[in-house]
This record gives sequence, structure tokens and C-alpha cells, in this order.
Amino acid sequence: MNRREFMAAVAGGAATVGGVVCTSFPAHASDSATGASGNQIGVLVDTTKCIGCRKCEYACARANRPNGTSIESYKDMSVFDSPRRMTHDALTVVNRHANPVNPSEPIYVKSQCMHCLRPNCVSACIVGALHKKSNGTVSYDVSKCIGCRYCMLACPFEVPAYEYNNILAPKVQKCTFCYETYQARGEPPACVQICPPNCLTFATRDDLLEMAHAKIEADPDAYYPHVYGEAEAGGTSWLYLTSRPAEELGFLKVPAHPLPHLTENLQHSIFKYGIPPMLLYGLLAIAMKVSEAEEKTEPSKAPHE
Ligand code: SF4
Ligand code: SF4
Ligand code: SF4
Repeated sequence: MNRREFMAAVAGGAATVGGVVCTSFPAHASDSATGASGNQIGVLVDTTKCIGCRKCEYACARANRPNGTSIESYKDMSVFDSPRRMTHDALTVVNRHANPVNPSEPIYVKSQCMHCLRPNCVSACIVGALHKKSNGTVSYDVSKCIGCRYCMLACPFEVPAYEYNNILAPKVQKCTFCYETYQARGEPPACVQICPPNCLTFATRDDLLEMAHAKIEADPDAYYPHVYGEAEAGGTSWLYLTSRPAEELGFLKVPAHPLPHLTENLQHSIFKYGIPPMLLYGLLAIAMKVSEAEEKTEPSKAPHE
């Protein structure tokens, strides 16, 4: 059983304990409830242009860890030999995939938090430490976090990472959309600004979708006719254009509908039917064991595999 299956089982079990199946418990963030994209911001990643330079990884690290980052360490291309997933100090990673059409030109894919329109992590967080802002950013408030790591189990894209090495004040880490740094200054995120071939475009999600479909229509030989993130998990703020089917490029196969009903069932049961704390902590303990065991046994699993 992987952690997403476990989460579904826990949510189902909790609903049974509560005696009902509830599908309408509101999430903490009211503006995350509709799933409408409106004028929310987003980034379109055109993977057909990515050259695998890892500059986005460097810019992201510099934006989040200004004192401990050197460009030299991002010149090591041997990292592409094995698939990588996001970690507490790598909020975005680029992976290399074989190109069956042109083997000499591999395909590179950047991964980070997708900033879902209906974020399952927000729905799962029982204390409201994760929040969907009205511009589309899914933000994290460490002062509210109790370290339960529900968000890690709930995320359908397997994004949030935990600072296991930080014993005193561990945090959950994921892409911030550069909300309090670059966006606060009215600038695009750091990774978008640095990308040499401009394969990252920052705009409203609606404009990006129009742009993505126009590109597919204008050059059907270059693009696979699917915008990853348009529908996945009810839609995401990060969108992808690819030359190959997404599943060949390590993207997770995620249902095209919002998933928070799983975690909302759990929240509803906890609060409405007063699941005994011992049972809740027991479920949490099992959940953490599943999560940790998975991370130990699958160290090289790709972020979107
Ligand atoms: S990708 Fe995961 S962590 Fe990011 S907003 Fe969606 S559910 Fe939350
Ligand atoms: S938006 Fe900011 S935090 Fe997110 S991957 Fe880009 S640089 Fe990193
Ligand atoms: S900076 Fe741009 S081209 Fe370079 S790896 Fe990142 S997304 Fe690809």
C-alpha cells in the first residue's frame, strides 16, 4: 500500500468511525473551495524548450537559502543519472528522460509544488497551516504547523518534504511560488526569471491555458495534445506542455477531479464525531511509518513517477 492508498483508506475508515460518509466539509481556506481558476497566477512549463541547465534549481535555492548556495554545485549533471524527487532543501528538481524520437536530445522536466486549485494538502491540514491564497499560491505557516505530516500523505503529486534533519524546529518544505520574496516585489518567481531559454512563463492561469492550446494547435508535431495540470486533481497553477505523453516523462497519473473529499471526510469525522484522540494518534503514527518506510525504501523515486 503506498501513501496515497493509505490516505484513502484512513479517510474511509475515519468516515466509518463517524458513522457517515460526508462529502461537503469546507476546507480551511474558503477560496480553495471552488476550484475556479479565475485570474489566479500560474506558470506554463514548456518542456520542449528545457535544456536541463539546472539554473532554476540554483535560483530557487538562492531565493530560499540565500547564504548557503553556490552555482558551482548546480553544474553537476551526473545528478541526471538517477531520478530525483523534491527534498527539504531542493524545492524544485529537474529530471532527465529518454527521448525515443531523438535519443541524442533527452527531455528534461522541472518539478515543484503544483499549487493546486483544490489543494489536498490544505484540506488535510487539521490546523490550517497550509492556505490557498486568492492569487493561487498555496502557502505554509510554520507557526501553526504541528508536524503531523498529513499534507505529505495527502498530496497527490507527492511534493511536501519534511526537515527530518532539523530536530529542534522541523518544517514542511515545498515551493512557495516565491510569494513573499519575488511576488511581493511584483516580480515573477526566481526560477522563471533565470531560465535561459525562457521555457517558464508566468501569467494568469487563464492566459497560460490559452497560450498552451495555441502552441499545440500551431505546432502539433512538437507538442503532445494534452496540457498537464489543466484537469489533473481538479486543475493546478503549474501547467506543462510536453512532446510525449506525460506518463512517459515521470508525471504521476492523477485523476481529473479534485481530491479533497478524501481528507475532508477525515476532518469532518474528527471534529463532528469526536474521534478519540488515541485513535487519531494511532492513525497518525501508522501514517508516519508508511511515509517514512516509503522514503527509506524508495530513495531514488522520481517526483512524478
Ligand atoms: S501539489 Fe501537493 S503540496 Fe502542492 S498544492 Fe497540490 S496538494 Fe498541496
Ligand atoms: S516559484 Fe520560487 S520557490 Fe517555487 S520552484 Fe520557482 S523559485 Fe522555487
Ligand atoms: S532553468 Fe529553464 S532550461 Fe534550465 S533546467 Fe530549469 S526549466 Fe530547464
